[in-house]
Amino acid sequence: MNNMNNGNNNNRNNNNNNNNNGKKNNNFLIICIVASLLTFLFISFVSNKVQDSMRVEVSYNDFLEMIEQDAISSVKLNGGTIEIILKKKDGTPFRGKTYYTGLIESDIELVERLEKADVDFSSEIQNTGTSMMDFILFTVVPMAGLLLTFWLLFKMMSKGGGMGMGVGKSTAKMYVQKETGVTFRDVAGQEEAKESMRELVDFLHNPSRYTQIGAKLPKGALLVGPPGTGKTLLAKAVAGEANVPFFSLSGSDFVEMFVGVGASRVRDLFKQAQSMAPCIIFIDEIDAIGKSRDSRYGSGGNDEREQTLNQLLSEMDGFDSSKGIIILGATNRPEVLDKALLRPGRFDRRIIVEKPDLKGRKDVLRVHAKDVLMDETVDLEEIALATSGAVGSDLANMINEAAIMAARSGRRAVGQKDLFEAVEIVIAGKEKKDRILSDEEKTIVSYHEVGHALITALEKNSEPVQKITIVPRTMGALGYVMQVPEEEKFLMKQDELITRLVTLLAGRAAEEIVFDSVTTGAANDIEKATSIARAMITQYGMSEKFGLMGIESIESKYLDGRAVSNCGDATQAIVDEEVKKLLADCYAKAKKLLTDNREILDRIAVHLKERETITGKEFMEIFNQVNNNSENVKSEYNKCGTTEAAMEGDTYDE
Ligand code: ADP
Repeated sequence: MNNMNNGNNNNRNNNNNNNNNGKKNNNFLIICIVASLLTFLFISFVSNKVQDSMRVEVSYNDFLEMIEQDAISSVKLNGGTIEIILKKKDGTPFRGKTYYTGLIESDIELVERLEKADVDFSSEIQNTGTSMMDFILFTVVPMAGLLLTFWLLFKMMSKGGGMGMGVGKSTAKMYVQKETGVTFRDVAGQEEAKESMRELVDFLHNPSRYTQIGAKLPKGALLVGPPGTGKTLLAKAVAGEANVPFFSLSGSDFVEMFVGVGASRVRDLFKQAQSMAPCIIFIDEIDAIGKSRDSRYGSGGNDEREQTLNQLLSEMDGFDSSKGIIILGATNRPEVLDKALLRPGRFDRRIIVEKPDLKGRKDVLRVHAKDVLMDETVDLEEIALATSGAVGSDLANMINEAAIMAARSGRRAVGQKDLFEAVEIVIAGKEKKDRILSDEEKTIVSYHEVGHALITALEKNSEPVQKITIVPRTMGALGYVMQVPEEEKFLMKQDELITRLVTLLAGRAAEEIVFDSVTTGAANDIEKATSIARAMITQYGMSEKFGLMGIESIESKYLDGRAVSNCGDATQAIVDEEVKKLLADCYAKAKKLLTDNREILDRIAVHLKERETITGKEFMEIFNQVNNNSENVKSEYNKCGTTEAAMEGDTYDE
């Protein structure tokens, strides 16, 4: 039943489209004719006005007087009108204004008078053939010319060519690849996504296998995930595996200033795709057109986008999926998509393309390392561990940066050191060699960074420090501590989060303990710590005051993970108080830990200032040395560790 209904709907949609197109053409023809007529009338009116302004009517009396005074050069009888050409003083005809008067037939002496005054006179031959010719020449031909001009203009506009108007057919970069050359082997990790995509490939290969049983083939699938996770790559891989052409467009290519342009581009895209079926249509950033018509998402009343979306919906309903056209959309904002787009028969499959886990990252690194010469020091597992949170495009970029670095320094293969440096470049930017820190600044940054590092070292279960540096980076960090977790974690315990807060705030605490004043350098730490503390209270149910109450929810989870408050102002004020209290407690703990271990803090900070960069191994050596000598290392926590970001960058606003 459903099938039949859909079929009818489809036909109706197609018919509607055709009817609409036919109607539009007729309407335009009528507009052209009316516009031509109006233009012609206007031109005739203006030219008559000009001619009229050149003609002056005189009375018959005046005319007779002109003859008597010998002021006339010639006259012409034109029907019932006498046209008079005056004479200049030198006797030549005056070609400026023409005078005229009506013929009085009872004046039989007129010819005699004219002869007497020596005026040239003649009469216009009245010929109906000539007036017909006049009508054709001066009325029909200009009208036809105008009509033709309007018609050609319309044709040109609807082709979108020539005048750069881009109205109608798609002038957007439509990127058609006959063979993408990408297969599933090029996509590392993302096993679940690949599994779903394999099914699509099978639909394209053997549509009859499904249609014979009566299964309806899916028309589209939505790839959802953060930027750079390989959504485009997966779509290309489907086309590559199925060996079909790949149409690729971005949602923003459809959005135009003129209402109706986007819609006609959609029409055009589907027309082209149907002529090349079976094929894949890939629309990146589909949220640019598929944004909900609900005004909550800031698109209320945008006619152009609404028309484009409606056209996309009707085209998706209209085409026959057994022909083998699969539409893949990609977005990182699935929550803003219009519900109509996600209905069965449209983008009803949702394929999640998440950030890769440890194994996924190792696989991506391996895929990209395939074409790069690597030496025996390389351990991709270690790099994968150090890049928690990185997406496929980051990892591909890291391998390339490492290869560039090795080539620049004249080596023939990439080593592990290059890879670690590349990780830092992608996360924190390049070393900023031209930024020279003053001696005092170096001291402050050294204490700040060692403050962070010391907290992690004082905790038994914390992640080992990989590197501490006070060499500034282009992305703003004046120094940072790089930690590499021993294993990837998916859950964080409450006390681990607390330790993370203490670690983040320890940079500022070290500054206050040592210099008794604070700098702007902790801005980034404070921002991160506040967001963790707020999430603990509003999302993770880790606050005694609010218990398990969900106070905030996450929007745009695949982009910035913005938190949206679900509570009123009064509750919000209490939340703020709680966040402040939690941060103050953690700061106090950091200060206490560092004060109790001041000797180690001083020793490592001095060493770091001297060397500018120290490895985790060096750091632990000094730590253990002082520790064994004085045996006064004091730690409050035993079971803490940080697993999240591998680096604490300190921005030190300029
Ligand atoms: P998205 O469309 O999700 O923003 P892309 O597909 O454009 O991401 O990925 C950009 C680049 O990152 C790819 O060209 C590829 O080099 C690399 N990449 C991303 N994910 C993967 C993956 N899973 N395997 C291999 N390379 C990947």
